[in-house]
Amino acid sequence: MIRIVYVNGEYVREEEAKVSIFDRGFLFADGVYEVTSVLGGKLIDFEGHFVRLTRSLSELQMVNPITSEDLLKVHRELVQKNSVVEGLVYLQVTRGVADRDFAFPDDISPTVVMFTQEKSMSESPLAQRGMKVISIDDQRWGRCDIKTVQLLYPCMGKMMAVASGADDAWMVHDGKVTEGTSNNAYIVKDDTIITRELSNDILHGITRAAVLRFANEAQMTVEERNFSIEEAKNADEAFITSASTFVMPVVNIDGVDVGTGKPGKIAARLREIYLEETLKTAI
Ligand code: PMP
Repeated sequence: MIRIVYVNGEYVREEEAKVSIFDRGFLFADGVYEVTSVLGGKLIDFEGHFVRLTRSLSELQMVNPITSEDLLKVHRELVQKNSVVEGLVYLQVTRGVADRDFAFPDDISPTVVMFTQEKSMSESPLAQRGMKVISIDDQRWGRCDIKTVQLLYPCMGKMMAVASGADDAWMVHDGKVTEGTSNNAYIVKDDTIITRELSNDILHGITRAAVLRFANEAQMTVEERNFSIEEAKNADEAFITSASTFVMPVVNIDGVDVGTGKPGKIAARLREIYLEETLKTAI
């Protein structure tokens, strides 16, 4: 099926969508993005993604070119035009088009691109089987809290995982796990959910915020602190969260089974709660 995508205010067929070769997103990865999931044709955590988009842009001295209301309209329009029931809306904002120069002019208008991806997400075989991850050195830059399109190292990490028969990689900085290539990382020990605290070292996951809120509401114990790969291997459970995977169990780290080597009960429960609760506020 030919998708209808959004480019700078227009809805066009995907093969007609064009961005300049001088776009700073293309030349310098000078841009940010968001991925919002769609369940039952509705958007999950839209406002959270909007707020983070504005923050990412402002950290890069860019002003959000689109209001929350207008962005919501475009999201809904794309979901409708492409008949997406379950999947994602990808949004990218780059600084815009200018002749190549490291210094950026302050009078250019941003490029805004959006498209949908259909994906079955609520029923996931991976949620039944659990993921295998490998650990790799975190070689990214010092502002991982900004959701930039500079994703080459996470792509390399994902390929290292695939090459070793795993599903993903957890990155390690100064002996402690930062996050997965495109998700936040958690372990569970003695019924306590442990995940790294927020800082410039990790992306402030929208799903992370929701899951921790639901965990607290369900009287589960949460500790926001660093943990090592050794500690993760000895944990009772492990899991990841992201907008496109929700809560996904991790059952093996660097070839070592976590707990029983099967998806854990807390991860399964959190996935259930997340799907149930998040649908209530989907728009
Ligand atoms: N960390 C990284 C590095 C990511 O790329 C992502 C997903 N884009 C996440 C965490 C999870 O964030 P969210 O829950 O907002 O999708």
